[in-house]
Amino acid sequence: MVESSDQVENVIIIGSGPAGLTAAIYAARANLNPLMIEGEEAGGQLMLTTDVENYPGFPEGITGPELIAQLRKQAERFNTRFLTKNVTRVDFEQRPFRIFVGAREFKTHSVIIATGASAKYLGLDSEKRYMNRGVSACATCDGAFFKNVPVAVVGGGDTAMEEAQFLTRFASQVYVIHRRDTFRASKIMADRTLRNPKITVLWNREVVEVLGNDKHVTGVRLRDTLSGADKEILNVEGLFLAIGHKPNTDLFKNYLDLNEVGYIKTRPGSTYTNIPGVFAAGDVQDPVYRQAITAAGSGCMAAIDCERWLEAQEDLKKK
Ligand code: NDP
Repeated sequence: MVESSDQVENVIIIGSGPAGLTAAIYAARANLNPLMIEGEEAGGQLMLTTDVENYPGFPEGITGPELIAQLRKQAERFNTRFLTKNVTRVDFEQRPFRIFVGAREFKTHSVIIATGASAKYLGLDSEKRYMNRGVSACATCDGAFFKNVPVAVVGGGDTAMEEAQFLTRFASQVYVIHRRDTFRASKIMADRTLRNPKITVLWNREVVEVLGNDKHVTGVRLRDTLSGADKEILNVEGLFLAIGHKPNTDLFKNYLDLNEVGYIKTRPGSTYTNIPGVFAAGDVQDPVYRQAITAAGSGCMAAIDCERWLEAQEDLKKK
């Protein structure tokens, strides 16, 4: 049975990374009394990072979880209400909109979606087994743990190039494993990779198994993507996946316009989606920049867009 109340929220914010929390700070300060449904694994991708050195205002750096804790405290200070649950379903067809958390139904005049994106993995059992024990999807977060040991990066896009380059600061040798014989990355980034003496590119290869002992990764087994033949075992202690991100938009795909890879489409220069009253901020609508600070910036935009939209609805009612 669905448990519902007559209360209609001004705005429900879904997601609690820098985009959602910044939207909450702005919406709360605008007296919208926002309800944030923060998810059971609140905080988003920053919770998986160690030092954040590029978020303005923290000259000594700050850890990802600490940054999230500070943003949350700031949102709380202006009376944002938090629900630490996952949204299980939405209904944007009727107004007020309906947001479901299991059997509980919430009604709201507007919604800010800030559900972020998740790194993609290869889907191997062995990859799961060695997660955070050599397998990582974030070189920027974990690279420094791999001093003077060989590591591999999987992928051929700009992220793979950037991560490989970054890892050469720590690792003794960096392998880039790519499934084709040309990079998808921009030419300048690809050239930088190809010129770097510490990077070796292995073309037409895929990882079929992550090898390790009872503590950590010791290597990867590779296969030739053209012939399907087993290839070398590469002795590496770190395996960095850089094969893209998947926006967390499954809940919304029946209602919102998404681009060809699943990111929510927003009207350029704004956070408006195709449904008036539903706004999107942060990585869920940004395949390009994907930074904490750009997510926070768009969270601010979403709250301002939302506030003005709600105000316009009130004005319409008065007419
Ligand atoms: P991309 O989608 O551009 O690249 C993903 C790469 O991973 C591709 O080379 C793809 O291979 C490979 N791949 C995907 N799935 C698998 C799989 N299952 N097994 C093996 N390989 C796989 O993602 P990025 O994260 O690199 O970039 C995302 C966006 O962010 C891009 O627009 C990029 O330009 C941008 N970006 C820009 C940066 C900058 O300018 N400084 C830095 C980082 C990102 P294939 O090529 O065969 O499809």
